[in-house]
Amino acid sequence: MALSLSSKVDQLHGVGPAIHKRLQRLDISTILELLFYFPKKHDDYSDVINITDASPGSAITVCGEVTAVRKRQSWKRRFSLTEITLRDDSGSLNIIWFNQPYIANQLKKGDRIYASGKVSNSKKYGQQMNNPMFEKYKQTTTHTARIVPQYSLTKGITQKQLRYYMRQALDILGEETLPDWLPEDMLDTYDLQTMTSAVQLIHFPDTWQDVEKAQYRLGFDELLLVQLFSRATRDDIASQQATSVPFKGQLIKDFVAALPFTLTQAQRKAAWDIIKDMQSDHPMNRLLEGDVGSGKTVVAAIGMYSVYHAGLQSVLMAPTEILAEQHYKTLLQVFNYTDVSIGLWTRSLRTSNGKQHAMGVVNSDSQHSIMQCDIIIGTHALIQESISLKKLGLAVIDEQHRFGVRHRKRLREHSDNNSTTPHLLSMTATPIPRSLALTVYGDLELSILNELPAGRKPITTQMVSATPQRSAMYSHINERLLAGDQIYIVVPRIEDEGNDKAESKDTMASITSEYERISKKFPEATIAELHGKLKAAEKQRIMQEFVSGKIHILVATTVIEVGIDVPNATMMIIENADRFGLAQLHQLRGRVGRSDKQSFCYVCTDGEAERSKERLDFFTNTSDGFALAEFDLESRGPGDVFGRQQSGFLSHFKMAKLTDKVLVKATREAADTIFENITHYPDIKTRLDHFIKQVHLE
Ligand code: ADP
Ligand code: MG
Repeated sequence: MALSLSSKVDQLHGVGPAIHKRLQRLDISTILELLFYFPKKHDDYSDVINITDASPGSAITVCGEVTAVRKRQSWKRRFSLTEITLRDDSGSLNIIWFNQPYIANQLKKGDRIYASGKVSNSKKYGQQMNNPMFEKYKQTTTHTARIVPQYSLTKGITQKQLRYYMRQALDILGEETLPDWLPEDMLDTYDLQTMTSAVQLIHFPDTWQDVEKAQYRLGFDELLLVQLFSRATRDDIASQQATSVPFKGQLIKDFVAALPFTLTQAQRKAAWDIIKDMQSDHPMNRLLEGDVGSGKTVVAAIGMYSVYHAGLQSVLMAPTEILAEQHYKTLLQVFNYTDVSIGLWTRSLRTSNGKQHAMGVVNSDSQHSIMQCDIIIGTHALIQESISLKKLGLAVIDEQHRFGVRHRKRLREHSDNNSTTPHLLSMTATPIPRSLALTVYGDLELSILNELPAGRKPITTQMVSATPQRSAMYSHINERLLAGDQIYIVVPRIEDEGNDKAESKDTMASITSEYERISKKFPEATIAELHGKLKAAEKQRIMQEFVSGKIHILVATTVIEVGIDVPNATMMIIENADRFGLAQLHQLRGRVGRSDKQSFCYVCTDGEAERSKERLDFFTNTSDGFALAEFDLESRGPGDVFGRQQSGFLSHFKMAKLTDKVLVKATREAADTIFENITHYPDIKTRLDHFIKQVHLE
């Protein structure tokens, strides 16, 4: 029976039940799905050269005859060696594979093969090639002598296997065409590859131009979908009713005047954006972006105060209980001179009007009384609970960029005035450059706080790359500890991983190794570990103890939350800082500098690479989060700008270069054209509807 695109992958040669299971882990069960499993990158081994021309360091391919095969076992060091000699017209070369004894059975004297890899040169062994990819000589190669695709793998599947399956899948595609959701005239207008051609080229391109053409087409699809999503969401929200919140100029003025500080220009502008949006009887959908410490909470408070005067409630939702408590305290102060009632509703703390109930003794009355408050603060989980609000006017969400329409609907259902949709304000401390935000969050209006309140002491930032600097840093830590200050130490990973790669001198710090090192250095200090593998309650207990000052040094991964406010913490130490994006480093640095004491940040690196030093150097001299994000966006792409937690939506972009202005403009234009006439594009409509559903489930 001939295979087709809808056949299961276990029909392919070489895919047995075990491999089938592993492919399913990659969400691949049909040939079609396999074809849409794109490489994460390509390596260029297309340069086939004479053996005598091989120079150390660069990726090359040699082609020749095997003249000897040797197998060796080193018992002492527990590894095996397969060694061959390869000869071409120009000379011969030794090739060695470590711990792949089976290769000795695959190759024999007289075989003609390609080998792709890097040549190294040592005094002891002379010129040799280590662990290259190889394949027998043939017209069309798969693993060597070409631009070779590299896929993300799962345990038990190798690049070689995956490429072998992909070749078969592409042969099957040879007789069919892939369905294309874009009409032909659009392919013409935007000079795009057909879907079939794009898929063929992305796996086995002949040139880098092929790679680019394929990426452009596939990226076009991704971005077009998101642009259409933004349009659809905007239209959907514009069609809903909200309660208009009148602007009461004098009341707002008085409120602002009573604040213990003067608003920045950026805060004024953002507050005004919000007030104007909420005057409409359609819901606001706005993202407030501002660096750590830029004062987003008070901007939101101005919005909530307006809502209060319209006789409506506001909810404020934070990612963790500690942050919710922090917001609660802040808002108690901000609203101190007003009649606004404020309630806190989290799993462990339920309180209002300064009255606190321990968990478990909250009776229905107190739930009722909290839900009657003008402002209710909780975690993101608040919407999951069976709460019953009175008259919800505004929902503020901290540190969640996009709030699903589904969540919004849910919130609305919690409220008695459920014929209207609440206004929505999302807040984030991730400094996403405007251009990028407009592309990725095109469904949201944008307000940016790009200035810090006056009088903030800049955090002194220093790079530590040599031993004397490290010693100085440790004495500085000691000094701060003696003064009663607290310290964060951030490391890139939790555990030490056994290092089997013989040549890698990896010295990446882990929680385990760092905790040990610091405990020895500062035996008097109370030190705690904090990382993602701890239970939520445990994490919270530790964080709570750090907040209360019981813990002096916190050795943590990046889980320490954005926005956490421990004024007594004045030092942030980041080990292996070159592993982090600049925007992420900046957010970590923002955990300190929260009092009038001078704060310090040390970025430690053992990396010799000039490039990483250059980046860190830029970091030590720049306190503007947007400038740092821009820098990373240019040099490392958007993944680093968003950081790991917020990259959910970014996972939709596997191919699209979000910084490609031509692509962004073309897809926006195409989205507009399509949207005006969406019924003419049934395939696009189907795909869009599916995508909307998917995003709302996130
Ligand atoms: P973030 O944007 O990181 O959420 P917050 O809203 O927590 O920042 O504000 C950080 C601190 O700065 C708070 O203590 C707040 O009261 C204070 N603050 C806010 N705006 C100003 C201002 N214009 N001048 C001085 N301090 C301000
Ligand atoms: Mg905040």
